[in-house]
Amino acid sequence: MPQTSRWPDVSLEHVDVLIVGAGLSGIGAGHHLQANCPEKTYAILEARDCIGGTWDLFRYPGIRSDSDMFTLGYAFRPWKEAKAIADGPSILSYVRQTASESGIDEKVRFQHRVVRAEWSSSDARWTIEARRTDTEETVQLSCSFLLMCTGYYRYDEGYTPDFQGTERFAGEIVHPQQWTEDTDYAGKRVVVIGSGATAVTLIPSLAKSAAHVTMLQRSPSYMVSLPAEDPIANTLRRLLPARLAYQLVRWKNVLLTMVSFQLSRRRPSWVRALMRKGVERQLPPDYDIDTHFKPRYNPWDQRVCLVPDGDLFEAISAGRASVVTDRIDTFTERGLRLESGAELEADLIVTATGLNLLTLGGMELAVDGRDIELAETMSYKGMMLGGVPNLAMAFGYTNASWTLKCDLTCEYVCRLLNHMQEHGYATCTPHNRDPSVTEEPFIDFSSSYVLRSIDQFPRQGSKAPWRLYQNYALDILSLRYGALEDGAMQFSRLASPVEAVEQLLA
Ligand SMILES: Cc1cc2nc3c(=O)[nH]c(=O)nc-3n(C[C@H](O)[C@H](O)[C@H](O)COP(=O)(O)OP(=O)(O)OC[C@H]3O[C@@H](n4cnc5c(N)ncnc54)[C@H](O)[C@@H]3O)c2cc1C
Repeated sequence: MPQTSRWPDVSLEHVDVLIVGAGLSGIGAGHHLQANCPEKTYAILEARDCIGGTWDLFRYPGIRSDSDMFTLGYAFRPWKEAKAIADGPSILSYVRQTASESGIDEKVRFQHRVVRAEWSSSDARWTIEARRTDTEETVQLSCSFLLMCTGYYRYDEGYTPDFQGTERFAGEIVHPQQWTEDTDYAGKRVVVIGSGATAVTLIPSLAKSAAHVTMLQRSPSYMVSLPAEDPIANTLRRLLPARLAYQLVRWKNVLLTMVSFQLSRRRPSWVRALMRKGVERQLPPDYDIDTHFKPRYNPWDQRVCLVPDGDLFEAISAGRASVVTDRIDTFTERGLRLESGAELEADLIVTATGLNLLTLGGMELAVDGRDIELAETMSYKGMMLGGVPNLAMAFGYTNASWTLKCDLTCEYVCRLLNHMQEHGYATCTPHNRDPSVTEEPFIDFSSSYVLRSIDQFPRQGSKAPWRLYQNYALDILSLRYGALEDGAMQFSRLASPVEAVEQLLA
């Protein structure tokens, strides 16, 4: 692959914008481009053979959203299903319908895994190298702007800690990311290791036909029970036009989430007590909440788990599921031995132990021949990278629905592209020249999956526009209405042919 050329390689196919990834974010990005920058050419490169990303990959029983679809859905396309906490297949068909209704699906090139992107300042373009996952062939193309919608975790394998003795276990061990229809749990004794959103989703579903399900957790998580159907949303949708009702419900949910997050950070003891009361109400009076449902951290220091219609608590109360809070000493022939000495017998062990985080879909980046170490960059508004031109990434909120931020990111990118077109700019690069901006981690969460990988992420800065606020209202001000020419974003024009020849001869 050429490092930096004087002249663009005209033999390569060129698009104005290249989107990487055809999940929820990539399809949303396609919509924003078509609606706001209709003259721009674009393509979507997708490593897999279908649209949907997360919502196609995960096939475990009960797979569902853990935030409401009025905010996980796109701003531009009302969620019309009855359930606000929706099942995976409904979310997948929502994404696919969005793609097919406006021809976004025709822009997707499947089985193209992007492995490297090299920026050339003299050409003001990226050269992209993609590997065909079906033929192993290498494909190159170029683009003026790169929009990364690659999600945030590895698709090939989930995270499994190094457990002792797994080879001795006579039953089956499965990670939820590798769940297939052949994974049989009916009538079986199942142990689910983990206490995050996946475990909380899986357990009530498995408990419907398993002999018994045990949730084995190292430590408890915060859980909040909410109705799967939102009665206010359903009433508003009966009374008002779909789009208006959708906007009102979105804002209601955005505000509720923001208030709950801010209150958790400012008055953690209140929120702790409130959440505890919610759990107490749903479990039998003598239940040992202190051991199994009293987290050691403050609410929203890690993502709070949603329990739709109290399904997990119902399964526990009915005796179909139970919780054990302990640590694994070793797997045995018949199940697990715990550090307390207790034994858990199992036919199937589900390792709901999390994801392996991955930045930019594992792609390498280089700017003018210099490889970019992501961890050495500072993120600009949580969606571009200092010193990296013409590149944005759709990275959603950790304390609210992912799509809220991705929609705003795409709106901002469209504003940026239109501004550049209007002024004849070829490049836009965030540059931090303010020495008082100090570095902070990109994600302010104490979850182990974040702590394991945070050193691979860019940093954020201590103040705007380098700060990642995790706050939808502030991001609306910054991304929808904020000045594009803010001093940190540097724009430049491509040298004219005469200037280019002069530079070449100099
Ligand atoms: C089980 C589960 C439930 C979740 N529930 C919620 C929820 O309720 N609310 C919420 O806000 N968030 C939730 N999330 C987070 C969730 O991933 C996002 O909400 C959303 O689906 C992310 O969409 P995305 O398109 O950004 O990423 P993904 O869905 O991960 O899609 C990324 C796409 O990019 C492709 N890709 C990656 N790298 C490359 C590459 N190098 N070249 C080409 N293509 C590439 C992938 O194949 C994939 O198709 C959940 C996550 C999981 C795992």
